[in-house]
Amino acid sequence: MNATRTSGGRRRQGLVVLTSLAVLGAGTVGIGALTSSRDDEPVSPTAGGTTDAAAVTGAPGTGDRMEVTLLGTGSPVPSATRFGHSTLVQANGLNLVFDAGRGATIRLNQRGVPLGEVDGVFLTHFHSDHINGLSDLWMTGFIPALGGRQGGFHLYGPKGVEHLAEGLMSTYDLDVSVREADGEVDRETTAVVPHEFDGDGIVFEQDGVTVTMFEVEHDANGAIKPAVGYRVDYGESSVLISGDTRPTGNVIKYGTDVDLLLHEVADFPDPTLPVLQTVYSHHTNPQQAGEIFAQTKPAMAAYTHIVRGAPPQIPNVPLTTIVERTRESYDGPLTVGEDLMTFLIDDTTISVVPHYAENE
Ligand SMILES: [Zn+2]
Ligand SMILES: [Zn+2]
Repeated sequence: MNATRTSGGRRRQGLVVLTSLAVLGAGTVGIGALTSSRDDEPVSPTAGGTTDAAAVTGAPGTGDRMEVTLLGTGSPVPSATRFGHSTLVQANGLNLVFDAGRGATIRLNQRGVPLGEVDGVFLTHFHSDHINGLSDLWMTGFIPALGGRQGGFHLYGPKGVEHLAEGLMSTYDLDVSVREADGEVDRETTAVVPHEFDGDGIVFEQDGVTVTMFEVEHDANGAIKPAVGYRVDYGESSVLISGDTRPTGNVIKYGTDVDLLLHEVADFPDPTLPVLQTVYSHHTNPQQAGEIFAQTKPAMAAYTHIVRGAPPQIPNVPLTTIVERTRESYDGPLTVGEDLMTFLIDDTTISVVPHYAENE
């Protein structure tokens, strides 16, 4: 499938590019077939994109280009291959992180982002699988060799961020105190700086990059509140991150014609099992996601936060099954995300690099 769409008079294509780091940013990359996956089963992570050549020019995060890296594509299941939910968006020199689940700091380091140079962390909600990597990112970022953060650690999100920031600083006060006494850090540098917002709207605007926060529905009864998603715009490039949600109108509202739509998904081999109905009611199944993609028509749809089992108690549903079930309602470009997969969004294309790591 070579899906295209028109955005602002430009035609943008979703491409699948298998490339090596050596050629990134250095010109044209070669044609390659995506034949392997780093996941725990052999499956092409992309279905519906083309396998084609693409010109990749410019350094990361410069010009009109936006780079989106999946730092963690997993569920709460402790997995060595799929870390906790976290996504890096790079645009115009900014490093913005959305959620910091288990292992986000490791993935950022693999991706080659100095930990002290994260400009902001945006939270979708306060379930532990979305925030349990926060303290690692915050505290490790002080270490001079790993980034040596200058100034505070900026935390953005819905109501609750201030409470979380206070709690983090309280929890790590003993560490900050000894590092300060030891001459390692300046207490001011260690602050978690909360930016708390209520309702839908722009929560960050800097250097031409805009982040818009919008409410989503994590459950039918409104028990899990707040829960939000984000859309990032830079020039004509855009990405939407659904956060944890049931099918909700705001993803369609903010995701219509977005370049890259990152959506959560939950599925199991037997969707009818009564014990799983609570999980389904808190998330989006592949058929529902397909309907959302069909309505929003992104240049590329991709899955992250993939809830698909908890072996050995609940076997994993194959990724191919998730794709097949999505295809019941959607035939456009679709990628099953993997950790460290990067989407390069430029004026005309979205290229998918399966494993973009500079440090291993
Ligand atoms: Zn959640
Ligand atoms: Zn979650």
